[in-house]
Amino acid sequence: MAKKEVDDRFKKFGTVSFTGISKTNDFVDYLQQGKVMGTRCKSCGLQFFPPRADCYQCLTSDMEWFEIAGAGTLLTYSKLQYGPVGFEGDLPYCIALVDYGNYKVFGRVSSDLAEDQIEIGMDMKTVVNTLPNGQLNYVFQKA
Ligand SMILES: [Zn+2]
Repeated sequence: MAKKEVDDRFKKFGTVSFTGISKTNDFVDYLQQGKVMGTRCKSCGLQFFPPRADCYQCLTSDMEWFEIAGAGTLLTYSKLQYGPVGFEGDLPYCIALVDYGNYKVFGRVSSDLAEDQIEIGMDMKTVVNTLPNGQLNYVFQKA
């Protein structure tokens, strides 16, 4: 059996590396192009974020990429005083869930946005962010 080449593009994402999701590594290539992308099932149209390589409804891998564009609605947010390993230096920061209708995006609120400017129900957009160490992630900003 031929040894598979290690696809480590996800090392570029976030502060802590993701592993074992090589089928969706194009996600990071899109981030480098300034686009936050999810996947859509070509068969039933279900949209996924974070991107999935397979549709759980159709059990197909016939997926396509789509851009998380425009504004969603802030459903909820939470200010973190304790972060997961690798994120301690960023505290405190807010995590949020933004509703785009057919799918929801979970992530961090941009540090540019003060906590008193964050309101449930406000319009938010998802944008690519470059961390001080050159790594990429995405954050929510006021739309
Ligand atoms: Zn499907």
